[in-house]
Amino acid sequence: MSLSEIETFPTVAHWVDGKLLQSTSGRTGNIYNPATGQVIGQVAFASTAEVDRAVAAAKDAFAGWRSTPLSRRAEIMFRLRDLIVQNRERIAEILTRENGKATSDALGEVARALENVEFACGIPNLLKGGYSEQSSHGVDVYQIRQPLGVVAGITPFNFPAMVPLWMLANALACGNCFVLKPSEKVPSASVLLAELAREAGLPNGVLNLVQGDRVAVDRLLEHPDVRAISFVGSTPVAKYIYETATRNGKRVQALGGAKNHMLVLPDADLSMAADAAVSAAYGAAGERCMAISVVLAVGDVAEPLIEAIRQRIEKITVGPGSDSATQMGPLISREHRDRVASHVSRAAQEGATVAFEGKLGPSASGEGFFLAPALLDHVQPGMACYDQEIFGPVLSVVRVATYAEAIALINKNAYGNGTAIFTRDGGAARQFQFDVEVGMVGINVPIPVPVSYYSFGGWKSSLFGDLHMYGPEGIQFYTRSKVVTSRWPDPGSSKVDLGFPQVR
Ligand code: NAD
Repeated sequence: MSLSEIETFPTVAHWVDGKLLQSTSGRTGNIYNPATGQVIGQVAFASTAEVDRAVAAAKDAFAGWRSTPLSRRAEIMFRLRDLIVQNRERIAEILTRENGKATSDALGEVARALENVEFACGIPNLLKGGYSEQSSHGVDVYQIRQPLGVVAGITPFNFPAMVPLWMLANALACGNCFVLKPSEKVPSASVLLAELAREAGLPNGVLNLVQGDRVAVDRLLEHPDVRAISFVGSTPVAKYIYETATRNGKRVQALGGAKNHMLVLPDADLSMAADAAVSAAYGAAGERCMAISVVLAVGDVAEPLIEAIRQRIEKITVGPGSDSATQMGPLISREHRDRVASHVSRAAQEGATVAFEGKLGPSASGEGFFLAPALLDHVQPGMACYDQEIFGPVLSVVRVATYAEAIALINKNAYGNGTAIFTRDGGAARQFQFDVEVGMVGINVPIPVPVSYYSFGGWKSSLFGDLHMYGPEGIQFYTRSKVVTSRWPDPGSSKVDLGFPQVR
């Protein structure tokens, strides 16, 4: 099958054992172009039997893949990296078509996705264990890391290429075989990635995709041959995944939702803070788990900051992601757009002020799932717009009198994914880094998504599990360690000793 055929396939299919597998479940879902509101295709919804087939293919491939030399696995990652670079526009096009994000943003997603493949290219170094010579007389001890076997990933709609690669790159490089269940709203990018991985030389069965909904997820959570589950999505589902999969004896990392606060101190560079707030709140129409959704304006900074934000929102061009002038595309679905819009009207009823609503660009018309960016002021805890994750282009300003009030609010929040402080005071920034109960912190950086050689993950209701995703913790997640105690004695020195082994 040529690479271009997948783009004309009538129903986006599964990928099992190195090829597309047409579903026979009889269940499908619609795929929408959010910019037009039109159905542009169908996606298969896997049956439990189809999930079993994918897991079986992965299980069959495991012995061969885990025995493949590290340098060969690294070489395949190198080739995959090059193929992703060569196909970056095509991947970005798929992201814009199914998710709606602006082309520049889609290309940014591909660039950040690539980082994870680049990190995995270093697998020979990353899997180095430890060695202690002469732990006792003639005894050496060493630790090695081995793959888990078949592992599965379940991914959200907002990063159809990057989040799968957060998981896949390390999992495969470590020697595992993978079954991915992409979001049913954006299924095509994963199929292209699977094709590229095959072209890069990944053996059949090492990477498999099952498209679908909860039926597929539930089968993966209970399947006895699946050793670990990586999940990224909303908090209620993350909690469900964590509880169900751990009950079934699996290793789990389940990343959930977010409510990211940006604290602006009175000494901050106002223009830089306003640029950052607008970029981080409205980029990708607010559909990023690291989007800033709350600005905590300390003291007198509130009025001028709100005015500076307002001036910037006015200039945002909302339109179809494929339009080169567009800065902010549509939301993922009609229902989601309406839910986000209802937050704005409810906030006004609950006592907040709608400080500003932007407008749609001329090309954001028709049935597309567009929404103008909104800025809410005088927001308070207890209002739905503060208490809930909105996941849309709505930024709330909470006015606080002091730093202490601000930090208390952040630390009281159920979520702990990302946060940022804007200040020119190094001491204040350092105190913030020390105090704040959040997994990823930006200092004058509004979207502190760690580079791929650190790991990604929040605290509290933003992550269920012990290990963060990708980077060094990803390598830990996808391997288990084995410690070997070894002796090559002179056979003549052997004797029976029923005492507990100790250093002599
Ligand atoms: P979602 O939880 O609705 O779906 C995520 C995945 O879970 C999809 O593959 C979906 O098919 C599956 N799923 C949905 N409901 C399920 C159920 N009841 N049982 C089993 N599986 C189910 O999330 P979404 O709407 O695709 O993505 C947006 C959410 O993801 C937001 O809350 C966002 O904050 C979060 N997110 C978090 C991170 C992070 O790193 N923490 C990154 C991206 C997105």
